[in-house]
Amino acid sequence: MLAYQHAYHAGNFADVHKHLTLHAVTRHLLRKASPVTYIDTHAGRGVYSLDAAETRKLQEYRHGVAPLWEARTRLQGASPLLDAWLDALGEAQQGKQHLDRYPGSPWWLARGLRAHDRLQLFELHPGEHAELEQQTLPANASRTYGDGLAGLLKRLPVTTPRLCVLIDPSYERKPEYLEVAATLIEVARKARHALVMVWYPLLPAARHQAMLDSLREAGLRKLWRSELVRQAPGDSRHGMYGSGMLLLNPPWGLDAALGEALDAALPLLGDQARHHGEWWVEE
Ligand code: SAM
Repeated sequence: MLAYQHAYHAGNFADVHKHLTLHAVTRHLLRKASPVTYIDTHAGRGVYSLDAAETRKLQEYRHGVAPLWEARTRLQGASPLLDAWLDALGEAQQGKQHLDRYPGSPWWLARGLRAHDRLQLFELHPGEHAELEQQTLPANASRTYGDGLAGLLKRLPVTTPRLCVLIDPSYERKPEYLEVAATLIEVARKARHALVMVWYPLLPAARHQAMLDSLREAGLRKLWRSELVRQAPGDSRHGMYGSGMLLLNPPWGLDAALGEALDAALPLLGDQARHHGEWWVEE
């Protein structure tokens, strides 16, 4: 039984990190005409009302997207990626001037979808999937109620020349870290040029380390990671102190574009916030 619901955390600093990275990647992919299949293995409900009871409970967006939204005029010009991301966020408000909705990964992926691209979304929580079904998405986007990692492997090879995957689990179960690693190894074997993004939490227990180690041990190459640390691990007790994005086959220039955007955003995400990007395994 799945307990996690992303609505409690929508728009927090980890979402900002994840969706800025996602936006940087899709902007890069859209520079070329050749079709892309996007697969989002853990889609969530698609768009989150910041007024929903779950989101109001923790109000994590107040320390994530909200300060960036409030400072958007002042931030303009600091980073082309951040400018584009904040403009897109404005579109998601559907004419409202205040921050009313926070868009999840299906929205960010669907936004740049062209007629010859494909988008496949997986979600296993029945309630979240029912909400996802209510979202307006282009005709070339499909939604599947089912396990995203198994679904991803079943879809390979895809029919388009390019494949871009987001793996964004809730890590409710400890084995999920190694299940993600095993899936990534299989994707790299079956679709060598796939661009895969994996989000992971930075927690005091550091369970993500086993996932990273097993990928290196399996011989995968071209793995780059970006980590956004909001506070010292000891300060967060059992909570998430940072957010990680691991990319297989990252696009050229991502490091610089994301670094510039995060440099501008970080002072608004906390006094101790910092980020770094580095190769986990080089080419
Ligand atoms: N990717 C979303 C976004 O960026 O807006 C957030 C996803 S949230 C962190 C993780 C989601 O995965 C939850 O909605 C959860 O119900 C779903 N989930 C958990 N296990 C799953 C599985 N095995 N397959 C597909 N979805 C799963």
